[in-house]
Amino acid sequence: MRTVEVHQAWVWDCEKCGGENFCRAIVADPMPDEKEELYRELNDQPFGDLPPGWENFQMMTRPDVVACVYCGGCFETTDCREE
Ligand SMILES: [Zn+2]
Repeated sequence: MRTVEVHQAWVWDCEKCGGENFCRAIVADPMPDEKEELYRELNDQPFGDLPPGWENFQMMTRPDVVACVYCGGCFETTDCREE
């Protein structure tokens, strides 16, 4: 069997037509000095040594605006984890 590479994505339901939409996640590319700060903030580790390989972490950012592939409706986004 052949293999495919899977990617992280956002999923959202259209408020207009109810269609389920997928949107590939955008990998944020912070500056090196911002990266450590972001890692510490996201992992609640303000001080101390960081675990091996921490610099390989990736931060996915969401799109600000999405369009439904079924009806073309456009919406601003919020992250369900931030509510
Ligand atoms: Zn729609």
